[in-house]
Amino acid sequence: MLDTLRFDNRFTRELPADPELNNFRRQVTGACYSRVRPTPVAAPRLVAYSREVAALLDLSVSDCESSTFAEVFAGNRALADMDPFAMCYGGHQFGHWAGQLGDGRAIVLGEVVNQRGLRWALQLKGAGPTPYSRTADGLAVLRSSVREFLCSEAMHHLGVPTTRALSLVVTGESVVRDMFYNGNPRPEPGAIVCRVAPSFTRFGNFEILAARGDVELLKRLVDYTITTDYPELGTPCKEVYVAWLREIGRRTAVMVAHWLRVGFVHGVMNTDNMSILGLTIDYGPYGWLENYDSDWTPNTTDAEGRRYRFGAQAQIALWNLVQLANALYPLINEVPPLEAALDDYRSTFESAWQDMMAGKLGLNHFDRARDTELVTELLAVLQLVETDMTIFFRQLAILDTNMDATDAALIATIAPAYYRPETHTDDTRTRTVAWLKRYRERLRADDRTADPRRAAMNRVNPKYVLRNYLAQLAIDQAEQGDYSRVNELLDVIRRPYDEQPTRESYAAKRPDWARQRAGCSMLSCSS
Ligand code: AMP
Ligand code: MG
Repeated sequence: MLDTLRFDNRFTRELPADPELNNFRRQVTGACYSRVRPTPVAAPRLVAYSREVAALLDLSVSDCESSTFAEVFAGNRALADMDPFAMCYGGHQFGHWAGQLGDGRAIVLGEVVNQRGLRWALQLKGAGPTPYSRTADGLAVLRSSVREFLCSEAMHHLGVPTTRALSLVVTGESVVRDMFYNGNPRPEPGAIVCRVAPSFTRFGNFEILAARGDVELLKRLVDYTITTDYPELGTPCKEVYVAWLREIGRRTAVMVAHWLRVGFVHGVMNTDNMSILGLTIDYGPYGWLENYDSDWTPNTTDAEGRRYRFGAQAQIALWNLVQLANALYPLINEVPPLEAALDDYRSTFESAWQDMMAGKLGLNHFDRARDTELVTELLAVLQLVETDMTIFFRQLAILDTNMDATDAALIATIAPAYYRPETHTDDTRTRTVAWLKRYRERLRADDRTADPRRAAMNRVNPKYVLRNYLAQLAIDQAEQGDYSRVNELLDVIRRPYDEQPTRESYAAKRPDWARQRAGCSMLSCSS
């Protein structure tokens, strides 16, 4: 079983390991990782798997539905040629250097090369303690694992660069968690997700080496990453390092523009949660905008400063890139090229964002002179009354662009997006209608017929996103041992841009009960 998996563990083959093989918490220097085995669990049982990710690994349905699969991806059984390890990294958390963090509850089982020659690292999350677990237990609960599993796949199907998720298993053991760190611990079902990505290297892998002054190992890891994941940049040298930073910035800018397109808030953009490949990584207290609010964050740990709020994500990504640039400085020893690379991020993000907004509005392209104000006013209008972002853009696609459409008809088109239509005043209604008319004018200037425009808008404005309350409903059932809703949601998010007439309820606005419910509007770090 699973014998199509061909392991080629390049990371452990080419980079230095921690010589200590006993699994206890420690500082690890002079190494990029520590070898460690997953802790066996009592009774692994498969909750769900992604057939698309299985296909990337050349695994068949019968492979995935076998008992071996659940055992392997719960960490109970190792396959020949696996070489499990936890990575050493550091990070800036909430703006402050936090020293060594590392994979405290993640273990890479090995790297698989598929039949098309693509490299995929398989990583268990929640498979027990590692040398990097610090004071925590190395485990994960079903609640957060369902969220990570579903969101990774939802993001992929939405076209957002992301790490993937192969499988979700329950361990048959319980894990005690105090969900809001407020003195209310309760036992929850333990679970393990197998994440899949070309690599799980983060900005923090480089930062920790720079912070410790280990320039030699820093250079080795940089050279390794460039040759393995960025071979198109050429043989590593000073110029290539700068080009690499620029490319990381470009990918990061594209990723964040996608987040803003679909209404995703990462929630913990610490530098240890920033992928060196520009992938969305570490789905913790993330959330999806329901009513558009650029100040919203789902993360209760960040409720005070709102550092990681929706509208700040592009800025924070730059802040994180600055930390990466600082870490790379010892290899470059010149400030201007690093500054130029960071400036590139600003301009790449700006144009990615403009293209994205033009796409959402169905414009042929973003015309800076005309569209800057149109978009600024739109973002203000969206916050006049609570307006569901996802529904708003789907409705906008069917706006009547005939000049004789009445004000009432214009507003009626977007009214399904309103949570509290009664909070509209004469002023807010007038301002909304004014924007809709301005938008209608703008569309007419583009000379594009309605049907292709609508189709194009519906390809970038999803109908189905992983609404916070939908994930929570699936979690509530899964905690009772019923996994059908997790699997149904997985299926819904496979086709986020298509109408799915039998599944209209999955496109519905957040119900009132979910407004303040834990898990729906409020989450905490690392649960
Ligand atoms: P996060 O902000 O969730 O990405 O986690 C920050 C750091 O804490 C990382 O080094 C994680 O590996 C570690 N961590 C989070 N939860 C746990 C846990 N339950 N056990 C061990 N380490 C953890
Ligand atoms: Mg993390």
